[in-house]
Amino acid sequence: MARYTDSVCRQCRREGEKLFLKGDRCYSAKCAVIKRHTPPGQHGQARQRKQSEYGIQLREKQKCRRAYGVLESQFRKYYEMAANMRGATGENLLSLCERRLDNVVYRLGFADSRPMARQMVNHSHILVDGKKVNIPSYLVKAGQVITVREGSRDMENLKELKEQGAAKPVPKWLDMDAANLTGKIAAMPQRDDIDLTIEEHLIVEYYSR
Ligand code: SF4
Repeated sequence: MARYTDSVCRQCRREGEKLFLKGDRCYSAKCAVIKRHTPPGQHGQARQRKQSEYGIQLREKQKCRRAYGVLESQFRKYYEMAANMRGATGENLLSLCERRLDNVVYRLGFADSRPMARQMVNHSHILVDGKKVNIPSYLVKAGQVITVREGSRDMENLKELKEQGAAKPVPKWLDMDAANLTGKIAAMPQRDDIDLTIEEHLIVEYYSR
């Protein structure tokens, strides 16, 4: 399976903002976006010049894709699915990304970042309605229950969550029972549930060219 292997902090520097891919480090002074303001690479400074309309659309698409850790082919599939759904294509696209199982695990606070959540799913630590699901791109549906597998509940990052509850707010489309490491999909995510600074209309314009 193809995956991105370059430094994750480079991705944030390329997009010029935090994508929160490294957990606690993202909230510290060590964050690469705080330390270095230019895009990565030898010609990073030059990339800061005024962008074309196409360049702006491309960057918005890349930012969204990288924030959710989705490869181009999968992201284009989401766009096609979103375009065939009722409602605004851009909002549908974000909703599909948000419904990915790895994102739900992150949103519930079982993991400090989406890459870490993806690893938890890959390593079979997560159950959906009591059944093991190890596919990070699995799209959750309303009413489903997401839990951490019994044998995985002693993981270091889960101890604090069990004892003190969620450290960050859980979006309202998810019902969280931190003590039992369980979350329920209360509703489908709406645009105002998604806190990423993404202008989804630019992504739609990119793919509609
Ligand atoms: Fe991005 Fe986090 Fe790295 Fe900062 S520390 S550049 S937010 S991945």
